[in-house]
Amino acid sequence: MSRQVTILGAGLVGSLLAILMRRRGYPVTIYERRPDMRKAVIGAGRSINLAMSTRGWNALELAGLKEEMEQIAIPMSGRFLHQPDGSTAFQPYGKNGEAIYSVSRGELNKRLMTLADESGAEIHFNQRCARVDVPSNTLHLEETSDAGNTPSNQHSNTPTLQHSNTADLLFGADGAFSALRSSYSYMDRVSSEQKYIDYGYKELNITPGDGSTFRMEKQALHIWPRGKFMLIALPNTDGSFTCTLFMPFEGQDSFEALQDDAALKPFFEKHFADAIPLMPDYAEQFRTNPVASLITTRISQWHYKDKSALIGDAAHAIVPFYGQGMNAGFEDCTVLSRLMDEHSEDWSTILKEYQRLRKPNGDAVLELALMNFIEMRDKVADPRFLERKKIEKQIGIRYPEQFTSIYELVSFSHTPYATVMQCIDAQDRLLERVMSAGDFEEMSRQETFVEQLDSWMKEYHQDIQQLDFFGR
Ligand SMILES: Cc1cc2nc3c(=O)[nH]c(=O)nc-3n(C[C@H](O)[C@H](O)[C@H](O)COP(=O)(O)OP(=O)(O)OC[C@H]3O[C@@H](n4cnc5c(N)ncnc54)[C@H](O)[C@@H]3O)c2cc1C
Repeated sequence: MSRQVTILGAGLVGSLLAILMRRRGYPVTIYERRPDMRKAVIGAGRSINLAMSTRGWNALELAGLKEEMEQIAIPMSGRFLHQPDGSTAFQPYGKNGEAIYSVSRGELNKRLMTLADESGAEIHFNQRCARVDVPSNTLHLEETSDAGNTPSNQHSNTPTLQHSNTADLLFGADGAFSALRSSYSYMDRVSSEQKYIDYGYKELNITPGDGSTFRMEKQALHIWPRGKFMLIALPNTDGSFTCTLFMPFEGQDSFEALQDDAALKPFFEKHFADAIPLMPDYAEQFRTNPVASLITTRISQWHYKDKSALIGDAAHAIVPFYGQGMNAGFEDCTVLSRLMDEHSEDWSTILKEYQRLRKPNGDAVLELALMNFIEMRDKVADPRFLERKKIEKQIGIRYPEQFTSIYELVSFSHTPYATVMQCIDAQDRLLERVMSAGDFEEMSRQETFVEQLDSWMKEYHQDIQQLDFFGR
């Protein structure tokens, strides 16, 4: 007899999970704190577009949505750098032209919700879970009537109707401020941490050119790396770009320091001169659009017996700098699905295995995302780093079976994030050796260097061959 599944949150991960559970015949009920986004006008949320990579596509394929979403996804095959001196450069992401894809968060969420609906999941909107009594799986729900514009970490001021409900098998897919995670955190021997970073972000928009044309290179993720802050832009299908400015809340070159036009204008003219003609109303947008904060969360317990589990941001909220939050959440669904194949209805084993396999990866992707922030805002403008990227590519071409860069492992493979983290030291060692040997192109014409390189590659291979590339 199938268990009754309850999911908190009809966001990206909750809706996908609902589809996958319905496909297996489980009755599914979702409680979502916001109104139905397919009907209501919801104020500007977090990032209008998202970068989807291999892990995300894989999960969409499971849900049967890959082909449809591919139609409205824009491939970005590399970083397009905008340097302070006005020069630009393109850095391909993969050695074989691989791309990450810009997709509309809203469209994707709406499609997933509709598919969940069509597959028979019951979605209750305006239902906020305040807390869960974990041992009894009792949900304390509040009926909300705000327009869905209250941030997840704040309560709506609107009066609420309260009721409770007991779940059979419960998934907390309720995002970074998860009620289920918070309820777990009060339990004995559960360690839980949430950290805000000192940086916030603000979205700005570059409108399309005449006839919905793109006013910058379309198939790239644009970056203006400026050391302590950065601007990025991802393309949308209507020809616009959504830009995100990441910078510290306080201090020099911060949101606090840019409160009026007198400070903002010279700042933009100095750092983002080539972006100004593309968004001449930047000052107005800057005044109007909110600054949002960035949080990371970790918790030692991802499930409670065979009764409940966390998934997606609820289990591992991360900073957005590797474009992996949604991808990691979708991969949680893929792994859970595989475990259901392997263990049928044995939920005690499924949830235990789910935590064993996914928690180290949740922790690892959190670290990778923080590391990539430094790479994006700072290192991509550093000539030594650029040289290293070129060499990585050459080595990847020369030794395609043995060497895949960290970026490629994260974005274009299913290698567990924890394994990717373990590859970093070995790759650093290899590349330090190669770079200290001199000019790579020149050296690689010398037979003795090629022999040396072969032997370094053998050592590299030995270093990584013990690692678990398949997540078992
Ligand atoms: C600026 C920015 C850029 C990003 N870019 C990328 C990217 O390029 N690629 C990528 O892979 N990821 C990216 N991410 C991360 C991505 O947005 C998240 O990882 C993803 O949205 C997680 O999906 P989720 O369903 O777990 O959580 P959410 O999308 O947060 O959905 C949670 C759902 O639960 C509902 N909810 C919340 N609390 C409750 C409650 N108490 N009761 C009931 N319902 C509740 C919410 O209303 C929401 O619908 C980015 C994040 C940010 C902030």
